[in-house]
Amino acid sequence: MPETNYTPPNESPPAQIHPVLKGQKALVTGASKGLGQAVAIGFGQAGADVLVNYYTDEDGARQTAKSIEECGGKAQLFKADVAREDDVRAMFRRMIEVFGRIDICVPNSGIQLNARVDEMTLAQWQRVIDVNLTGMFLCAREAIRAFKKQGIDRSVSYAMGKLIFMSSVHDIIPWEGHANYAAAKGGIMLLMKSIAQEVAHLRVRVNAISPGAIRTPMNVEKLTSPEVFERALLKLIPAKRIGEPEDVARAVVWLASDESDYVNGATIYIDGGMTLYPGFIGAG
Ligand code: BGC
Repeated sequence: MPETNYTPPNESPPAQIHPVLKGQKALVTGASKGLGQAVAIGFGQAGADVLVNYYTDEDGARQTAKSIEECGGKAQLFKADVAREDDVRAMFRRMIEVFGRIDICVPNSGIQLNARVDEMTLAQWQRVIDVNLTGMFLCAREAIRAFKKQGIDRSVSYAMGKLIFMSSVHDIIPWEGHANYAAAKGGIMLLMKSIAQEVAHLRVRVNAISPGAIRTPMNVEKLTSPEVFERALLKLIPAKRIGEPEDVARAVVWLASDESDYVNGATIYIDGGMTLYPGFIGAG
């Protein structure tokens, strides 16, 4: 393998998801676009029925549902603001009414309201914490309550339930101009681990996914400006390609399946090496 002047192909493998979630019922928040949409569709491809939560983008949620139905799964749309306790409780009630149980919960919704700290309003701080951290707690709490109530159904899974938080590389990488976002993601890390420790004995598995730069609507600006993309973003990614939503969905499907039955309290970084201190490449 030539060490220098070698440009590997900039592509990701095609999605090949096996029906490892057959018969399981999943809830995904923020499933109208981006990572949530890819995860919900990945669950459909893997044989699960899915509650597709959205807040503003009903059309996107319909697209997600259509793709799940094309795989033979059932999909139920539910509009809810994950930062509101009443909305979240109503969403879980609907989940049980429609599907009878919940095997997998993916609190995924996330927003960015960027500002340097001396310019950040309390409203910008609060809304990001409310959606990206409190929303995770509210969904986790309802999911754990439901898991405990229903017990284990060995015909679908060895676990009583699976909770998979969508975090970010910014749970460990500081991010100037995004202190609210990084604080919420850092918070998810110990929220996830504390809950994982609390419920592991019940066979409830709690884990997190921390994506790097992925081709989602949240990153549209970074992807459409060649200047930002080539000069800045790719420098941060040792693998030299942006991630695709399916790169993330595959790992979430695995964490939701019995294939990962002995994985508790883990964070999987799906980032093309972004957390490997890429600034050290050629600088040692
Ligand atoms: C953010 C993206 C960003 C990536 C890497 C993610 O959490 O949502 O906007 O590109 O982290 O910095």
